[in-house]
Amino acid sequence: MVVIMESGADEAQIEAVIDRLNGFGFDVHRSSGVNQTVLGAVGVKPGFDKRHIEVLDGVAEVYRVTEPYKFASRSWKRENTTIDLGKVLIGGDDVVVMAGPCSVESEEQIETTAAAVAAAGATILRGGAFKPRSSPYSFQGLGESGLKMMRAAADRNGLLVVTEAMEVGHLGLVAEYADIIQIGARNMQNYSLLRELGTINRPVFLKRGLSATIEEWLMSAEYVLASGNTRVILCERGIRTFEPSTRNTLDLSAVPVVKAKTHLPVFVDPSHGVGIRNKVIPLARAAVAVGADGLMVEVHPNPDAALSDGPQSLFVDQFEDLMEQSRAIARVVGRRIAGPAEVTA
Ligand code: PEP
Ligand code: MN
Repeated sequence: MVVIMESGADEAQIEAVIDRLNGFGFDVHRSSGVNQTVLGAVGVKPGFDKRHIEVLDGVAEVYRVTEPYKFASRSWKRENTTIDLGKVLIGGDDVVVMAGPCSVESEEQIETTAAAVAAAGATILRGGAFKPRSSPYSFQGLGESGLKMMRAAADRNGLLVVTEAMEVGHLGLVAEYADIIQIGARNMQNYSLLRELGTINRPVFLKRGLSATIEEWLMSAEYVLASGNTRVILCERGIRTFEPSTRNTLDLSAVPVVKAKTHLPVFVDPSHGVGIRNKVIPLARAAVAVGADGLMVEVHPNPDAALSDGPQSLFVDQFEDLMEQSRAIARVVGRRIAGPAEVTA
């Protein structure tokens, strides 16, 4: 941490700041010029709040030079984290595609979707059984029966399952049916839920909060990692901005930024990111081009009849186009789309 004193700061103020820093356990290196003093404070603790120093008399600026997270950072672990799920390796060379409906609605709907996305080359089935809806009057998901339908459809079609758990009380149940547990954007800062994920032997798919900075998102990942679960996948899903033309603003710049800061795999969800069906494919292409380790895409056999997020769900033939175009982009950036289609190609 670097503390820059005001140019008029007197010796007593400088000494008081040094004492305070020593009190917090820092080693302090002082450098005094003609007008200004700069203090280098070594040994910052991950949770240290720099405002303790900013409020002191004579202090002009305080900069942290280390990240407030540890286990999530690339300086802690240089090589990429890979998550081996048997059929699928996440965070490796191949780009992994998760696809399926927003919500599991019926046996027939999830089976039709699973068969279609598997045939197009997806390897993981997505779908919600516990749904975080903005309105309490909207469809809330089928709960455990939805999980059962989804597991069966995934197994019949050789897919893995990713699905959301919204509360601590449901974690055990969701873990019985899911290969990966999704934590939704609205729960990204539900710290009791994040901490509890350390007790679950399942990778965690952590979506970025609606208004979360990259640092807040990585701090949420840190909660999971610090609780003992080392298998965390990050997912950019669009953030709230002043722009109303799209549902959210998909922050694709987050992908290279986050990949430089962390060793964790980074996915992109263009469906929630843009919220408009005909904009999903171009953003999926862009996500692969910018270096995403995977995509999460909403697909429905009859989007017009979907119980949630129909307007952003792709028709099956559109998803086939998305896969074909993503394969082409992946080749350009020296990667492949993971899955049976590529193995035989
Ligand atoms: C979802 O994936 O169905 C979902 C609700 O996503 P988010 O939490 O990103 O809104
Ligand atoms: Mn949705």
